[in-house]
Amino acid sequence: MKRWMILLFALLILFCWIAASWAQNNSPAPVTLIRAGVLIDGVSSSPRRNVIITIRGNRITDVADKETFPLSIPTDMPMGATFIDLSQATVLPGLIDAHTHIFLQGEDPAEGGYDIQLLKYPLAFRAARATVSARRALEQGFTTLRDMETEGAGYGDVGIKMAIEGGYIPGPRLFVSTRAISTTGGYPLEGYAPEIEVPKGVQIIDGPVEARKAAREQLDHGADWIKVYLTHRSWVSKNGELVSQPTLTVEELRAIVDETHGWGKKVACHAYGGEGLQRALDGGCDSIEHGLVLTDAQIAQMIRQGTWLCATLSVYYGDWAPADTPTGQRDRKRASEHEVSFRKAMKAGVRIAFGTDMGGIPWTEPIAQEFPRMVEFGMTPMQAIQSATSRAAELLEMKGRLGVIAPGAYADVVAVSGDPLADIKILENVGFVMKDGKIFKNELVSKR
Ligand SMILES: [Zn+2]
Repeated sequence: MKRWMILLFALLILFCWIAASWAQNNSPAPVTLIRAGVLIDGVSSSPRRNVIITIRGNRITDVADKETFPLSIPTDMPMGATFIDLSQATVLPGLIDAHTHIFLQGEDPAEGGYDIQLLKYPLAFRAARATVSARRALEQGFTTLRDMETEGAGYGDVGIKMAIEGGYIPGPRLFVSTRAISTTGGYPLEGYAPEIEVPKGVQIIDGPVEARKAAREQLDHGADWIKVYLTHRSWVSKNGELVSQPTLTVEELRAIVDETHGWGKKVACHAYGGEGLQRALDGGCDSIEHGLVLTDAQIAQMIRQGTWLCATLSVYYGDWAPADTPTGQRDRKRASEHEVSFRKAMKAGVRIAFGTDMGGIPWTEPIAQEFPRMVEFGMTPMQAIQSATSRAAELLEMKGRLGVIAPGAYADVVAVSGDPLADIKILENVGFVMKDGKIFKNELVSKR
């Protein structure tokens, strides 16, 4: 072959390769149109009717009011687009639960309770069950979770997140907090002979140096959030108050917060009340988890500092011990104090994000059970929905990208049949789930 022929041949191959890769990179993302009978967009104070949502790939590109009557399919639909008719449904952004534990299974004391998870179950067994928990959340329309530590399963949450993002298993978007942090005497396992070393459900630290090191380790291994326990246990004191044991000092907590903020991440603090909760606020926590007993001064401090409250109300209503036992009195006191604190915080304008403590509640139960509880304690149904959409997205620093149906947001879309503003319990029956532009569940409509 002549040299010029070889050159021509090589050029031809090069041209084909460039053309093929150009076509691959520029092939238009698949277009999906959703017709929403009613749209609750996660931000607006009232719903919209007859809306067409346009999705390209994994993003929402357009949300438009379109009167298509008598046809439900828009006449200007692009060629090759998929049309999803949700004209008989209420469409919402994918829901966000900002406090879960995919590595817990609502431990039944009769089956060994919390301890058996750490003492007898191989990590692979726990990871397999966490996979099921993640799937359960997605099935119920929760397309994002802030998972608040693995309870002795180390960095298992980072692995589950990788498997979801890699497309190996279905699941929500995960914001993970890995091992969590408390102090000596500040977390189970407890009550074993001092001669026996037992595992702990968190990373134990004592002193600001160890505190900072633990935060560094967890951040280094993939933590999106740092979870710290500022109170441990709770009981009713002699004078009838709900009290809790404080754990970290302000100095220890400040080292963690300083380190975590330096990485551009945030700190979530489990705190029931009293001294521990005060240290959580003085130490600069970004979110208070549970917050059972909030004083007026603490509420004012939360507003001043922009601290979030993730109350997790429902978990304190299950499995009460008999009323005439100290534990039973404690259980009732926790619920009654929590209600007062939640109502006060809400009225004062504390930023509230939806969270359940699922895992503390068995994953077989509905996640959406928290909604009616929030409404019972004074939120409007719209406020409760926004706490699980745009507000929770703000907590996660994903404003405009999650928790909203608007151009530029990720295509996380769910739908229910009926009006959740009239009956918030309807959110327990999510019939359509799309995450990242892909339909995961579709029991409401037929695709065309
Ligand atoms: Zn929790």
